[in-house]
Amino acid sequence: PLLINQLAAGEVVTRPAAVVKELLENAIDAHATDIEVRITQGGMGMIEVIDNGVGIHPDDMVMAVTRHATSKVADVAHLHGITTLGFRGEALAATAAVSRLTLTSSHNDSGIGRQLQVAGILGDTPKLIPVVHHRGTTITVKDLYFNVPARRGNLKSIATEFSHIETIVREVALARADVALTLFHDNKKRLSLSVNTINKVTEKYLPLSRLEQATGLALAEQAIEIAVDLSSLTQQFGSSSATNANGEYADNVRTMQAASIGGWLWASYDANHSLPKLIYVNGRLVKEALISNQLRQMVQSVQLAGMGYALYFELPTQWLNVNVHPSKQRIKISPLNNIMAHLSHAIRAKLRGLNT
Ligand code: ADP
Ligand code: MG
Repeated sequence: PLLINQLAAGEVVTRPAAVVKELLENAIDAHATDIEVRITQGGMGMIEVIDNGVGIHPDDMVMAVTRHATSKVADVAHLHGITTLGFRGEALAATAAVSRLTLTSSHNDSGIGRQLQVAGILGDTPKLIPVVHHRGTTITVKDLYFNVPARRGNLKSIATEFSHIETIVREVALARADVALTLFHDNKKRLSLSVNTINKVTEKYLPLSRLEQATGLALAEQAIEIAVDLSSLTQQFGSSSATNANGEYADNVRTMQAASIGGWLWASYDANHSLPKLIYVNGRLVKEALISNQLRQMVQSVQLAGMGYALYFELPTQWLNVNVHPSKQRIKISPLNNIMAHLSHAIRAKLRGLNT
């Protein structure tokens, strides 16, 4: 199993930032509202993610670091209806196979939790040590690739690895304004985002205050609001509510509309302007060439030099197939052309409004 886990690590744990991404996704899946990320030496010394989520029951802690142990998908058939960010059940096992990993968690308010250590190999009789811990989970990953020298040699400078981590944390910050996030590097605070209150209905996807804090860019002034109702498509292509495999609401924080796109757009007459280009589908940042190409064509057709966007797609899970690539950044959307037609119509209407 160690070899298999190390092979899996080759796909999932490509660099420290990839570990951070998986740990943040787990914290969010566990309904954390406050997440602290502590990094030393660009993640090559330590990566620690502390959350206040639901925690892990002592009986489930060994399972959590075992390959293909996921509490999130009852069976493969459910892979089409995924509402959680994680579902492959390999991130923790793969990380543990190539690092010294400590999992500490408490699932109640007793103030006591359990701790489990894995250094490459999970022993035959893994020991759970009782420790003081708040409700939630802390995962500490030290000495990444200590047992895979070739991979350790592939890592870039501390500054480069940390900048990748910072990018990941910012991307999560933009996906979830309802979660407080703090990032430390070598004990220095690098990012501190409190929960941003949503002042207007139009800010339900992303308050502009969070956007400005997370990017450090003055974006509020020029932001054009986008709101697209896709409910006409749900009659055609079906809809399902955002429930997980157990029929529970997977996301108790945001109430999802069945099918919509909302967010912000920036039109730019200056080609050098570096504007964000972010597409989130049900809270997951996706890199989907089909969508970004269509948006780029739209820009050309209205003779703008550039366009930025932070667009939040909320779609029925049955329209999506997220199990396309281990990184989970690729996604298949079934009525994509219909969706893009609605989006393009809405964007053109807004841009026309600008010129008059
Ligand atoms: P996946 O997220 O795909 O299920 P992971 O390897 O990332 O797989 O995690 C394995 C399991 O460990 C999860 O399904 C979950 O039950 C548990 N887990 C991991 N991290 C956390 C966390 N921060 N809070 C609560 N449970 C967690
Ligand atoms: Mg996960």
